[in-house]
Amino acid sequence: MTAPLVIIAVRGEPAGQGNLRTGPKHGKAYHANSKDLSPWRERVRGAALDVLGAHEFRPPTGEDRRLALPCDECGTYRTQHATLLGPVRLEAVVTVRRLKSVTAKWPVTRSSSDWDHYARAICDALTGVIYVDDSQIIDGRVITTYPHVHQHALGEPGAVIRIWNGGA
Ligand SMILES: [Zn+2]
Repeated sequence: MTAPLVIIAVRGEPAGQGNLRTGPKHGKAYHANSKDLSPWRERVRGAALDVLGAHEFRPPTGEDRRLALPCDECGTYRTQHATLLGPVRLEAVVTVRRLKSVTAKWPVTRSSSDWDHYARAICDALTGVIYVDDSQIIDGRVITTYPHVHQHALGEPGAVIRIWNGGA
Protein backbone atom coordinates (compact mmCIF):
# COMPACT_ATOMS: atom_id res chain seq x y z
CA MET A 1 0.00 0.00 0.00
CA THR A 2 1.32 3.42 -0.87
CA ALA A 3 2.28 5.80 1.92
CA PRO A 4 -0.42 8.26 2.97
CA LEU A 5 -0.22 11.77 1.56
CA VAL A 6 -1.08 13.26 4.95
CA ILE A 7 -1.13 11.84 8.48
CA ILE A 8 -3.05 13.87 11.06
CA ALA A 9 -2.76 13.03 14.75
CA VAL A 10 -5.44 14.63 16.93
CA ARG A 11 -5.44 14.57 20.74
CA GLY A 12 -8.59 14.95 22.78
CA GLU A 13 -11.90 13.20 23.44
CA PRO A 14 -13.40 12.11 20.10
CA ALA A 15 -17.03 13.11 19.56
CA GLY A 16 -19.51 11.66 17.13
CA GLN A 17 -21.89 13.66 14.97
CA GLY A 18 -25.31 12.58 13.90
CA ASN A 19 -27.86 12.85 16.69
CA LEU A 20 -29.88 15.96 15.94
CA ARG A 21 -32.33 17.53 18.38
CA THR A 22 -34.93 20.11 17.69
CA GLY A 23 -34.64 23.26 19.76
CA PRO A 24 -37.50 24.65 21.85
CA LYS A 25 -37.49 27.85 19.82
CA HIS A 26 -38.18 28.02 16.08
CA GLY A 27 -37.85 24.21 15.78
CA LYS A 28 -34.26 24.60 14.64
CA ALA A 29 -32.20 21.39 14.64
CA TYR A 30 -28.92 21.25 16.50
CA HIS A 31 -26.38 18.57 17.36
CA ALA A 32 -27.34 16.74 20.53
CA ASN A 33 -23.74 16.77 21.75
CA SER A 34 -22.53 20.11 20.33
CA LYS A 35 -20.77 20.88 23.64
CA ASP A 36 -18.35 18.00 22.92
CA LEU A 37 -18.61 17.99 19.14
CA SER A 38 -17.53 21.59 18.44
CA PRO A 39 -14.18 21.43 20.31
CA TRP A 40 -13.41 18.01 18.79
CA ARG A 41 -14.08 19.27 15.26
CA GLU A 42 -11.93 22.33 15.96
CA ARG A 43 -9.06 20.11 17.12
CA VAL A 44 -9.32 17.90 14.02
CA ARG A 45 -9.37 20.94 11.74
CA GLY A 46 -6.54 22.67 13.63
CA ALA A 47 -4.35 19.56 13.50
CA ALA A 48 -4.93 19.28 9.73
CA LEU A 49 -4.11 22.95 9.12
CA ASP A 50 -0.95 22.59 11.25
CA VAL A 51 0.34 19.48 9.49
CA LEU A 52 -0.29 21.04 6.08
CA GLY A 53 0.91 24.53 7.01
CA ALA A 54 -2.40 25.64 5.50
CA HIS A 55 -4.87 28.41 6.39
CA GLU A 56 -8.63 28.87 6.42
CA PHE A 57 -10.31 30.39 3.36
CA ARG A 58 -10.58 34.11 4.06
CA PRO A 59 -13.26 35.98 2.13
CA PRO A 60 -12.31 39.53 1.15
CA THR A 61 -13.39 41.94 3.87
CA GLY A 62 -16.02 44.52 3.10
CA GLU A 63 -17.12 42.69 -0.03
CA ASP A 64 -20.43 41.02 -0.70
CA ARG A 65 -19.82 37.46 0.46
CA ARG A 66 -22.32 36.14 -2.04
CA LEU A 67 -19.85 37.00 -4.80
CA ALA A 68 -17.42 34.24 -5.61
CA LEU A 69 -14.24 36.10 -4.72
CA PRO A 70 -10.84 34.52 -4.06
CA CYS A 71 -9.23 34.08 -0.64
CA ASP A 72 -7.85 37.35 0.67
CA GLU A 73 -4.68 35.64 1.83
CA CYS A 74 -3.60 33.51 -1.14
CA GLY A 75 -5.87 34.47 -4.06
CA THR A 76 -7.26 30.93 -4.42
CA TYR A 77 -10.97 30.53 -5.11
CA ARG A 78 -13.09 28.65 -2.55
CA THR A 79 -13.74 25.83 -5.03
CA GLN A 80 -9.96 25.20 -5.20
CA HIS A 81 -9.04 26.06 -1.60
CA ALA A 82 -7.99 22.57 -0.40
CA THR A 83 -5.08 20.14 -0.63
CA LEU A 84 -6.88 17.60 -2.83
CA LEU A 85 -9.33 18.54 -5.57
CA GLY A 86 -9.96 15.00 -6.84
CA PRO A 87 -10.92 11.67 -5.25
CA VAL A 88 -9.81 11.06 -1.66
CA ARG A 89 -9.30 7.94 0.41
CA LEU A 90 -9.47 8.38 4.18
CA GLU A 91 -8.86 6.09 7.12
CA ALA A 92 -9.30 7.19 10.72
CA VAL A 93 -8.35 5.19 13.81
CA VAL A 94 -10.34 6.71 16.66
CA THR A 95 -8.99 5.97 20.13
CA VAL A 96 -11.64 6.26 22.83
CA ARG A 97 -11.16 6.35 26.59
CA ARG A 98 -11.44 3.05 28.42
CA LEU A 99 -13.06 3.45 31.82
CA LYS A 100 -11.37 1.51 34.61
CA SER A 101 -14.51 -0.61 35.06
CA VAL A 102 -14.36 -1.80 31.44
CA THR A 103 -12.47 -5.02 30.84
CA ALA A 104 -13.52 -5.62 27.22
CA LYS A 105 -10.75 -5.24 24.67
CA TRP A 106 -12.94 -3.38 22.17
CA PRO A 107 -15.14 -0.30 22.59
CA VAL A 108 -18.51 -1.96 22.18
CA THR A 109 -20.34 -0.22 25.03
CA ARG A 110 -22.54 2.84 24.74
CA SER A 111 -19.75 4.97 26.25
CA SER A 112 -18.37 5.51 22.74
CA SER A 113 -20.14 6.83 19.65
CA ASP A 114 -20.87 4.79 16.52
CA TRP A 115 -18.14 4.59 13.89
CA ASP A 116 -20.27 6.39 11.30
CA HIS A 117 -20.88 9.29 13.71
CA TYR A 118 -17.13 9.63 14.21
CA ALA A 119 -16.76 9.53 10.43
CA ARG A 120 -19.29 12.34 9.98
CA ALA A 121 -17.55 14.60 12.52
CA ILE A 122 -14.07 14.04 11.07
CA CYS A 123 -15.18 14.34 7.44
CA ASP A 124 -17.01 17.62 8.11
CA ALA A 125 -14.05 19.02 10.06
CA LEU A 126 -11.66 18.43 7.15
CA THR A 127 -13.91 20.07 4.53
CA GLY A 128 -12.19 23.10 3.03
CA VAL A 129 -8.82 21.91 4.33
CA ILE A 130 -8.06 18.47 2.85
CA TYR A 131 -10.84 18.58 0.23
CA VAL A 132 -13.32 21.15 -1.01
CA ASP A 133 -16.30 18.90 -0.35
CA ASP A 134 -16.56 15.61 1.51
CA SER A 135 -18.26 14.08 -1.51
CA GLN A 136 -14.68 13.72 -2.83
CA ILE A 137 -14.18 10.86 -0.35
CA ILE A 138 -14.71 7.78 -2.51
CA ASP A 139 -13.26 5.36 0.01
CA GLY A 140 -13.45 5.82 3.77
CA ARG A 141 -12.94 3.72 6.86
CA VAL A 142 -13.21 4.40 10.59
CA ILE A 143 -11.82 2.06 13.22
CA THR A 144 -12.67 2.56 16.90
CA THR A 145 -10.20 1.27 19.45
CA TYR A 146 -8.93 1.67 23.00
CA PRO A 147 -5.50 3.12 23.81
CA HIS A 148 -2.61 0.93 22.56
CA VAL A 149 -4.94 -1.78 21.16
CA HIS A 150 -4.95 -1.14 17.40
CA GLN A 151 -1.69 -0.71 15.48
CA HIS A 152 -2.48 2.98 14.94
CA ALA A 153 -4.15 3.58 18.30
CA LEU A 154 -2.87 6.45 20.39
CA GLY A 155 -1.92 6.07 24.03
CA GLU A 156 -4.73 8.44 24.96
CA PRO A 157 -8.09 9.49 23.43
CA GLY A 158 -7.80 11.05 19.98
CA ALA A 159 -7.51 10.01 16.36
CA VAL A 160 -4.96 9.24 13.69
CA ILE A 161 -6.31 10.17 10.27
CA ARG A 162 -4.52 9.02 7.16
CA ILE A 163 -5.33 10.51 3.75
CA TRP A 164 -4.46 9.19 0.32
CA ASN A 165 -5.03 10.54 -3.17
CA GLY A 166 -8.02 8.36 -4.10
CA GLY A 167 -7.31 8.56 -7.81
CA ALA A 168 -3.80 7.15 -7.54
ZN1 LIG B 1 -6.16 31.19 1.09
